[in-house]
Amino acid sequence: MSRYRDFHRRSIDDPETFWGTEAQRIHWETPFDSVLDRSNPPFARWFTGGRTNLCHNAVDRHLVARAQQNALVYVSTETGIERRYTYAELHAEINRMAAVMRSLGVKRGDRVLLYLPMIPEAVFAMLACARLGAIHSVVFGGFAAPNLAARIDDAKPALIVTADAGARGGKVIDYTPLVDEALARAQHKPPHVLLIDRQLAPERLNASYLVAYEPLREQFFDAHVPCEWLESSEPSYVLYTSGTTGRPKGVQRDVGGYAVALAASMEYIFEGRAGDTMFTASDIGWVVGHSYIIYAPLIAGLTTVMYEGTPIRPDGGIWWRLVEQYRINLMFTAPTALRVLKKQDPKFMKRADLSSLRTLFLAGEPLDEPTASWITDALGKPVVDNYWQTETGWPILAIQRGVEALPPKLGSPGVPAYGYNLSVRNEFTGEPCTPGEKGVITLGYPLPPGCMTTVWGDDQRFVDTYWSSVPGQQLYSTFDWGVQDDDGYVTILGRTDDVINVAGHRLGTREIEEALAGHAAVAEVAVVGVADKLKGQVALAFVVLREPDRYADPASRTALETGLALTVDRHLGAIARPARVHVVTMLPKTRSGKLLRRAIAALAEGRDPGDLPTIEDPAALAQIRAALDGVVG
Ligand code: AMP
Repeated sequence: MSRYRDFHRRSIDDPETFWGTEAQRIHWETPFDSVLDRSNPPFARWFTGGRTNLCHNAVDRHLVARAQQNALVYVSTETGIERRYTYAELHAEINRMAAVMRSLGVKRGDRVLLYLPMIPEAVFAMLACARLGAIHSVVFGGFAAPNLAARIDDAKPALIVTADAGARGGKVIDYTPLVDEALARAQHKPPHVLLIDRQLAPERLNASYLVAYEPLREQFFDAHVPCEWLESSEPSYVLYTSGTTGRPKGVQRDVGGYAVALAASMEYIFEGRAGDTMFTASDIGWVVGHSYIIYAPLIAGLTTVMYEGTPIRPDGGIWWRLVEQYRINLMFTAPTALRVLKKQDPKFMKRADLSSLRTLFLAGEPLDEPTASWITDALGKPVVDNYWQTETGWPILAIQRGVEALPPKLGSPGVPAYGYNLSVRNEFTGEPCTPGEKGVITLGYPLPPGCMTTVWGDDQRFVDTYWSSVPGQQLYSTFDWGVQDDDGYVTILGRTDDVINVAGHRLGTREIEEALAGHAAVAEVAVVGVADKLKGQVALAFVVLREPDRYADPASRTALETGLALTVDRHLGAIARPARVHVVTMLPKTRSGKLLRRAIAALAEGRDPGDLPTIEDPAALAQIRAALDGVVG
């Protein structure tokens, strides 16, 4: 049996022994009583009775051996700022931030909502929360005010931390007006909003609830805040993600299981060793940022590189120069970024000294074969595609080179990671599919450590959403289609639900529909994702207007389209804006009124929508076809 198969088998047959050993990678202030509590499936509690702290494991623990090693290297090509923090300096900054938060009343179990750009203070704030036992909830800086308001009302934070502005591609995005609007919309009113003033926004909002961070940091400059020792399954953070309904779900994670899972992944999947340097080009607002910009590299004693900017500014060589300059060993990004880099002059890559780089990791969306082949040839280093979700916190599928360097297969992110009892199942019967047969990718109980423990504030939603969709079985659904071959390699074939993936960003088509439906001109709307060469997928919207005659002339039609795009920007953020809005007079629906989104998406991608025996009026399909052909819309 191959090393990998044996390793994986052991993790599934006897998770207690497997994870009990892995748990030794982290510090336990109080040892755990049992490795796994399976008394209440589908809930699983890992390392019960054990007490630990994520900040201690990520920072304090390394002060003995690596106080003077860089922990965080910060590079912003938006502001031109580069800063380095040793583990000792990072520790001091986290203590200052924790003392400031404490002075504003934050305590164990409180939520702290972070609406921050990619600045070092975001790392300090997340780790300060971990230190205090407060639960951070990072909201991606590209999200608009109503989105932020929904998260404020769900998390009910004791404190919001924000900055005056973010920056992208040379454009400054003022944050304080967005926070102000979100607070006006939200029912919950946190007492304070802590403001990191980067001096970027020309006019900062002067609201009474804003508390400036800098003077408080000075006041608490020498503070030392002890780590709160948390029970392993207490929540560490909540990260909202999109699903089938318009209402975002708060993915809740624990403390001990997450720390152990990340530490193990650094060895078996990422092969990162203490003293290495890792550059994860993602955003702290996403799960990849949580796990592989912050927690995993620090827990394992690496130097992490945090980058604010795009991959092509000041030019297409910037990331390769960073590899050279900081002797980066591990790099992690999304395929979209590579598709952008592929279009750049090859001299940028050739000129840089990439000898330090060992492996490139890619995740977040399907890795298409041309991009995979290009980057593998151009780099001459292993490229490791890995498949996972906000819910799991670390890879489900990957070639686990630290276990066994199995040969990669183009088009597949690899084989199931240890701990995941993965099976591809028939959507209707719940029976396992045979090799080569398409089905839903499911995971058996228990999910390994590090995965979501519940939906924040809604255990029932966790059970109903994730564990109830496979007929007759208690299985976790990933909501991804897949197919597994005879060697165990899985290929991902898209989502089973209404979630789309635009440039590695996960968006719910329902959320976009709800935003568009809020526009006065719109009677009905359907949003689907269609394949796009650069972004993987883009959203297309089909709208039925209340008074179509009002928009008959081209000028008012153009104004309408601009207005609709702005509506999405205002509700969700520009990342959710549909690539195109088509006007139709009816949408394809079943007789019971359910939108036939899969049929629309098939038409939009030039595929056959198949038999639709339940369709109410087949003429609606002809309308979609005509709109796509540019006859109408
Ligand atoms: P998120 O929760 O935002 O990380 O999005 C997770 C979803 O992105 C998964 O359910 C997949 O649909 C998709 N995804 C993530 N990684 C990959 C990958 N390596 N290959 C194909 N799809 C992926």
